[in-house]
Amino acid sequence: MLYLDGSQGEGGGQVLRTALGLSLVTGTAFVIEKIRAGREQPGLKRQHLTAVLAAAEVGSAQVEGATLGSMRLAFKPKALRAGDYRFAIGTAGSTTLVLQTILPALLAADGPSTVELVGGTHNPMAPPFDFLQHAFAPVLHRMGASLGLQLRTHGFYPAGGGQWRATIAKAAWTPCELLTRQEKPQFRARIVLAKIPQHVGEREAATLRARLGLRGDEVTIEEVASVGPGNVVMLRLGFGAVTEVVSALGERSVRAEDVAAQVADEAGTLLAANVPVGEHLADQLLIPMALAGGGAFRTLPPSRHTTTNAQVIEQFLPVLFTMREDQRQPGSWVVSVRPR
Ligand code: ATP
Repeated sequence: MLYLDGSQGEGGGQVLRTALGLSLVTGTAFVIEKIRAGREQPGLKRQHLTAVLAAAEVGSAQVEGATLGSMRLAFKPKALRAGDYRFAIGTAGSTTLVLQTILPALLAADGPSTVELVGGTHNPMAPPFDFLQHAFAPVLHRMGASLGLQLRTHGFYPAGGGQWRATIAKAAWTPCELLTRQEKPQFRARIVLAKIPQHVGEREAATLRARLGLRGDEVTIEEVASVGPGNVVMLRLGFGAVTEVVSALGERSVRAEDVAAQVADEAGTLLAANVPVGEHLADQLLIPMALAGGGAFRTLPPSRHTTTNAQVIEQFLPVLFTMREDQRQPGSWVVSVRPR
């Protein structure tokens, strides 16, 4: 039985999600206290609760404390089961974070699985569906793990109602290194509008073209059906072995130009640092690399989120992370993992 402090490091939902995923993979029971203690509204929110219930179903786990607002959870997995699952958040909470929770387990299970998810697909502070599709899944594939993704409907805060499906097979993990990249990326921007006037997308496109020198054919504006209104600007940066996706969500009272400028700023940081892996992909690659038993990537200075995630992974798996700035290339860090 492992005892975890939910307030360690960044003290957010990631400590819980990583614990649930690796508990299922290793069969280790755990108790976590002070869940999301570092947050304004601590404890389990709907999205985290759905992740707990999803993990419990995948691992036939015995669970105590699975209620909204709970700051303590006891989780004891019994048997990991591949199969056909469906999880609906019931709000616009992030469905991609629910998948992130159970993915390591389903990649370890004997046999193929499908997961249908209902809720938010493009949320603040979470990977947008397109990030999973174009940035995360291809790297996973290089590491011997297959994740198929199909988006049916976009879901935005606050209405939610997005639907998509993941297809997962047992992984044959192989370590991978992502240390270099093409200097000049291939750009592809996708601007999505749901029940939002077309001029918003056009102004976002104009800002991306002006700030990053994108050609007209590198930017598409797509009107999609969704339960509620929503707008997201996503930019793919094809770096050769890795594709990154940076994004920003349109918000009431934030100008379209400012939404696109957030994307341009984040892309600018990545381009200037000459690294293949950005801040978010960095924290999401740690579990796959640890399960593959090794690997390394070059990235921006690691976020607190990344260092916390590494710390939790080391509590479940016999691996050791190192994160070092490359003295020859200031601002560029190499994150690596090896068996302990
Ligand atoms: P809380 O911090 O309130 O507990 P939470 O559980 O919803 O929140 P975090 O712990 O902040 O979430 O984790 C967010 C996850 O979403 C991280 O894996 C992070 O890399 C990812 N993420 C956030 N923003 C983006 C983005 N723009 N693109 C890709 N991934 C993102």
